[in-house]
Amino acid sequence: MTHWHAYAWTGPERPADRERVDPANPAPPLEIADWLRKQVGPEATFGDRERAAAWLRAQGEEHRHLSHGAFPLDERMEYVHEALGLGTDVVWGYYSTAKRYVSRSLIACPREHYACPAPPGAG
Ligand SMILES: [Zn+2]
Repeated sequence: MTHWHAYAWTGPERPADRERVDPANPAPPLEIADWLRKQVGPEATFGDRERAAAWLRAQGEEHRHLSHGAFPLDERMEYVHEALGLGTDVVWGYYSTAKRYVSRSLIACPREHYACPAPPGAG
């Protein structure tokens, strides 16, 4: 059954590619599905779309987009609901008003060639 793994990473700037491709490094990967192979593991797992969206919205409220005028959270959330409704991923990567690089992702699972890092209901 489709579920989403929630991943969060915040740093001073967008990380270098060599950090991103390293599964041992918690920096956001280049290929979004490779989140599932990161050793850090997901912050949360959601079987419910609304709960997944609520998690992301809370992240967006805590870490305001540097260009929130151009990218209002309500509009970004419309895309989030659309993507989750289609059973696909949501990936956010932006600079916050605190001048931090904020990476927040909801990765749809299961998917081919990837093992589920945290099956829903397993904890
Ligand atoms: Zn999974």
